[in-house]
Amino acid sequence: MSELKYCQGPECHTYTTQDRLKGPKGNKTNQTRRRSNLYYGEFCDTRCYNDWFQKYGTRAVDHFGRLKEVKHLTEENAWCKRYDYANNDYENRNYIYHNKITQETRPLTESQYNDTNYTLNER
Ligand SMILES: [Zn+2]
Repeated sequence: MSELKYCQGPECHTYTTQDRLKGPKGNKTNQTRRRSNLYYGEFCDTRCYNDWFQKYGTRAVDHFGRLKEVKHLTEENAWCKRYDYANNDYENRNYIYHNKITQETRPLTESQYNDTNYTLNER
């Protein structure tokens, strides 16, 4: 049994739903949702996701780095990992690196596809 995660929405407990009403009979309270798997990462739904961003979004962007100039899509940074849509066999997907500008594709192994640190230019 996996551990339950708490929705990080600051207002989660204030929304009135049957599944938030917990506790012994006669003493139930509206509570923050807990799930073994939260579909929206740290949040139970998009309302809680938006509540969090409304409250903390500016501070989070300032903390992790605010974009201060435009970014440009170039041949060098236009590579993206994706499935090979030409292959309709979903049981045996092919993974590719695709350049959005040149349309060049290069094969990827599944482990390269899943490796978030793997980049084409660092081979
Ligand atoms: Zn929530």
